[in-house]
Amino acid sequence: MQREFFFVANWKMQLTYMQSIACAKAYTQVCSKNTVIVCPSYESLSIVKQELKETTIALGAQDISAYASGAYTGQVSAQSLKEVGCSYCIIGHSERRQYNQETNALIVQKLEQLLRVSIIPIICVGETAAQKQAGTTLNDIYAQLDPLLPLLSKSISTKILIAYEPVWAIGTGEQPTKEEVAAVLDALDQYIKKNISQASVFLLYGGSVIAETAPVYADIQTLDGFLVGGASIDFQKCKNIVSLEK
Ligand code: PEP
Repeated sequence: MQREFFFVANWKMQLTYMQSIACAKAYTQVCSKNTVIVCPSYESLSIVKQELKETTIALGAQDISAYASGAYTGQVSAQSLKEVGCSYCIIGHSERRQYNQETNALIVQKLEQLLRVSIIPIICVGETAAQKQAGTTLNDIYAQLDPLLPLLSKSISTKILIAYEPVWAIGTGEQPTKEEVAAVLDALDQYIKKNISQASVFLLYGGSVIAETAPVYADIQTLDGFLVGGASIDFQKCKNIVSLEK
């Protein structure tokens, strides 16, 4: 059976509410065997879900509260995301680690919230430029994943997506070589086989992916899809990535 291949669109805070509607309308032209997931910002989740209702495109959130409910001004709970129709949610994105000081411990709590309501996590991991320079990439990624293992190894019924996103490649136009991505994904594949035996884990790459570079990475045997930021807000620019076949 053909292994599932993913295209995750992270619209970040690039689009307003009205622009998100227009972008979702463009995505309704998607013609792809891949699993396509769009992640608009919170206020647009509901209307984008509405726009995509005649399609197979899934809805994802860009973040989630670490708490189930309560006095947490400005946060959104897992149950609320579930009710609005999200089946996926990004956690651990480097922009949240950087600008919101998110720690690995907080990301564990977020993962727990997602698994509790059966929303599929898209877990972002990756090294900074300094870490790459120091040659510690794999250890840095394992340090991000190890705290999640107690939850991940228990999770039996869900899919789990892990996105390898080198911090230095996000939004910069810089990209690792195919060999560099393959080396990390192959190591992650081994790590998963050793530590997470029960769930179906899929490995994505993210970081300045554009239509011209995606086919290069698509050859990597352990690659199960892409997480795309910048190029995902213009459907004309990303439609060839969306429908890329492995
Ligand atoms: C991202 O936001 O996760 C991302 C990969 O962004 P970009 O494609 O713009 O580098």
